Amino acid sequence: MAREVYVNGAFVDEASASVSVFDRGFLFADAVYEVTAVIDGGFVDFAAHQTRLQRSLAELAIDYDPIASGLLDIHRELRERNQLHEGLIYLQISRGAADRSFIKPTAIAPSVVLFTQQAALVDAPDAQRGIRVITCPDLRWHRRDIKTTQLLYSSLMKSQAIDAGVDDVWMLEGDTVTEGSSSNAHIITHDGVLVTRPLSTDILHGITRAAVLNYAREQGLRVEERVFTLAQAKAAKEAFITSATAFVMPVVEIDGEPVGDGQVGQGAKRMRELYLAESRQRLQS
Ligand code: PMP
Repeated sequence: MAREVYVNGAFVDEASASVSVFDRGFLFADAVYEVTAVIDGGFVDFAAHQTRLQRSLAELAIDYDPIASGLLDIHRELRERNQLHEGLIYLQISRGAADRSFIKPTAIAPSVVLFTQQAALVDAPDAQRGIRVITCPDLRWHRRDIKTTQLLYSSLMKSQAIDAGVDDVWMLEGDTVTEGSSSNAHIITHDGVLVTRPLSTDILHGITRAAVLNYAREQGLRVEERVFTLAQAKAAKEAFITSATAFVMPVVEIDGEPVGDGQVGQGAKRMRELYLAESRQRLQS
């Protein structure tokens, strides 16, 4: 079945979908995006993704109102048209198309694109074996809290990790861990404390991060939002990443050194199960 995508108000076959060559998303990465997971045919944390989208749009002064535009209904229709039961919906909103200029144009209509990707997210084999990461300096711009499509550095670093025979990178600001290439980074200390970098412009304010911290606190687990160093990560009992499509993914090796005993730990395993169970109870139909 050919995939149908959404472009500026219409559902069209992916082969005939197009946006302008003057689109500022294409020319300047002047665009924001969201990725919402679909499991059991329902959306995970849709409302939180929409709220973050509104914030990203406001930070860049892109004029688009997700609620007035019926963004949830667009997601629903795209899901039905592509019979998506498990996978993700990618959404991108750029400032729109205008003659190329460093001065951002005003009063142009944003370009809105959505598409689906099928994927087995729940039974991901990586969750069983854990992933291995290497570190690299975090050379991205310093507004990482805005979810823009400027992802080149992260893409190059992730590719470098794959070329090096591992799964991903953890990025470093000085000797502290910021994030994975497309995920938030967390550790569990030998005292059982879940430690994660606090929200700032250094990191994306992950929707999965927020949910996992909530669920952990509800379970009475100790959570500390503080900066942690690479040395602390290497000395931790466990490490893991979170993202909308990886959920909770254990990290078993950093820069060739095992984290804890180098196996998937009970803490990360439990957090993944908890996250999935809680998310399933809250699915947006
Ligand atoms: N940090 C970065 C840099 C990311 O790209 C992502 C995923 N897009 C995340 C964190 C995780 O955010 P979320 O849980 O909202 O997917």
